[in-house]
Amino acid sequence: MTQWTLMIHGGAGILRPDTLPADQAEGARAGLNAALDAGAGVLANGGSALDAVEAAVRVLEDDPHFNAGRGAVLSFDGCVCLDAAIMDGSGRQAGGVTGVSATKNPVSLARRVMTATPHVLLSGTGADQFAREQGLEQADESWFATPERRRQLEELRARVDGWFDAEMKYGTVGAVACDAQGHVAAATSTGGVTGKRWGRIGDTPLVGAGTYADDRACAVSATGSGEYFIRAGVGHEIAARVRLTGEDIATAAAAVLADVQALGGTGGVIVAAPDGTAHWAFTTPGMFRGQTDASGHRAVAIFGDE
Ligand code: ASP
Repeated sequence: MTQWTLMIHGGAGILRPDTLPADQAEGARAGLNAALDAGAGVLANGGSALDAVEAAVRVLEDDPHFNAGRGAVLSFDGCVCLDAAIMDGSGRQAGGVTGVSATKNPVSLARRVMTATPHVLLSGTGADQFAREQGLEQADESWFATPERRRQLEELRARVDGWFDAEMKYGTVGAVACDAQGHVAAATSTGGVTGKRWGRIGDTPLVGAGTYADDRACAVSATGSGEYFIRAGVGHEIAARVRLTGEDIATAAAAVLADVQALGGTGGVIVAAPDGTAHWAFTTPGMFRGQTDASGHRAVAIFGDE
C-alpha cells in the first residue's frame, strides 16, 4: 500500500501581506482547508485519486475567494468563460472543457467528457449542452460573477496599458493526488485571466500544459501565465523528465518552471508521484496551497516565506 497524499493550489501570483487583505487571506485559508477535508475524506476511505481531486476542486470552485466556478474572473466583454480539465494517471484518460458559462462545476463536466464521450476537449455552448444532457447542475451569471470580479474588470478596462490583469493574483484552482493503490490524478479549473479576449483559452484545460497525470511519472496541476505554460508544455514536460531521465519531482518542477521563466512567464505547479511524495514550486511571490497525507500531516500556506 502506498501512503496516500493530496496537494492543492488556489492560484499563484503577486501574493504578499501588503497586496492581499487579511480577511481575504483568512477566507482563502479556510477554503483551502475545506478542499483538503473533501479530498482527504475520499482518500482516507480508500477512494481513488481521481475522486479526490474532483472533490477538492469542486469545493474550491464553489468558493468565491478563488478564480474558478463561483468567483471566476471576467473576460473583457464581461462574460464568464470557464476552463477545466481532469486526468487519471492509471490509463491516461483525460477530459477537458473550455469556454463554459452555465455549468456550476466545470471539473465535473470535464470528468463526464472523459468518461461519457469519446472526446477529450469540448468547448462553449456544446460543452454546456452536454452538461445539461448529463444532468449536471447549471447556474446563471449571478452565481459566477461576484461584485469584486466586476470591480476588477472595470479597473482593468479603465487602464489602457495591457491585455491582462497586471497584478496577476491568478487564483486558478487545482489538485493532485496519489491514492493508496499508487495511482495519481490531476484536476485544474479556472476563469482564466481578467480581461481576456475573443475566446482566449489558457493552459488549464489543455492536457499536457496545465493538467497532466501519468502513473509512470507523476500528476501535475499548474497555475500562472497560461500562454507561457502552453508554450512550455509544462505538465507533460515535468512528467517526461521524471519518466525519461529519472529526475525526482522537485528537480523536474524547478527545471520546467525555470524554462517558463526564461520564456517570460511566471506561476507555479503542484506535483504528486505514485510513491506518495508531493511537491509544490512557484516563481511568483506567493501561491495559495495546501497538502495533507495519510500520516495526518497538514499544511496550508499563501506567501512565499511560509
Ligand atoms: N493559468 C491560468 C490561465 O492562464 C490562469 C491562472 O493560473 O490563474 O488561464
